[in-house]
Amino acid sequence: MIKVNFHTHTERCKHAVGSEESYIQHAIAGGFKVLGFADHTPWPFKDYVSNIRMTVDALDNYITTLTHLKQKYQSDIDIYIGLEVEYFPEYLEYLEILKTKVDYFILGNHFYQNENIKGSYYGRNTHLDEMMDRYLETTIAAINTGLYSYVAHPDLFMRGRKVFDAKAEIISRKIIEACIAKNMPLEYNLEGKKYNQINNVEEYPHHRFWEIVSEYPAEVIIGVDAHQPESLSKTVLYDEAYQFLSRLNIKLIDRIKLFSKEK
Ligand SMILES: [Zn+2]
Ligand SMILES: [Zn+2]
Repeated sequence: MIKVNFHTHTERCKHAVGSEESYIQHAIAGGFKVLGFADHTPWPFKDYVSNIRMTVDALDNYITTLTHLKQKYQSDIDIYIGLEVEYFPEYLEYLEILKTKVDYFILGNHFYQNENIKGSYYGRNTHLDEMMDRYLETTIAAINTGLYSYVAHPDLFMRGRKVFDAKAEIISRKIIEACIAKNMPLEYNLEGKKYNQINNVEEYPHHRFWEIVSEYPAEVIIGVDAHQPESLSKTVLYDEAYQFLSRLNIKLIDRIKLFSKEK
């Protein structure tokens, strides 16, 4: 298995730092053979400007910049251009347009319906059972669209849930089973792992979720979710994740489905 990462952000999203080129250079230093960018998708919101993602206008430059760098570094690393995409049903038509511009989408299901609705963040409000149900329902609906190449941080709900209780187990099993039914890989997220270590908590990734994954024939990919270039050159977390998942006999993959390859 070669070392890959399909979850890289850039400073365009306003909460990550570093240029595209610096992420590429750090990834090469970190031994990655494949680097996919999946910055937070822009959305054509009306009367609202998101402070956690690029604007719709910035997208073309994101793509042309990466297309240029892909050529420049082609002998060192394979670059892919993707997006981390929410499941917002009212914008599904917009996704059909975006799909023609990039190589892949990963599902980053952070918000219920829209990010500017109070209480919509699954990373905070999943202490409520109702929000757990919404997370499950929207994750499954997103998987069933066939638009996404994998589910990023599927155990994101643990940031709000805090305790891996019976409800968490039921939701986990249903998400894992839905992924298997659609051949959809699950991502073990290193940005979450870093957050857990810094804050001395266990939210996501949560070991119980991954132990449950190991009971199934699921495919798993490690995602750095880099918001800083250094996350790609310092590989301790990656190595720990690789060892943890290997110990659980989880099937790790190093490639994902791309739009262009379907054509
Ligand atoms: Zn982010
Ligand atoms: Zn995310």
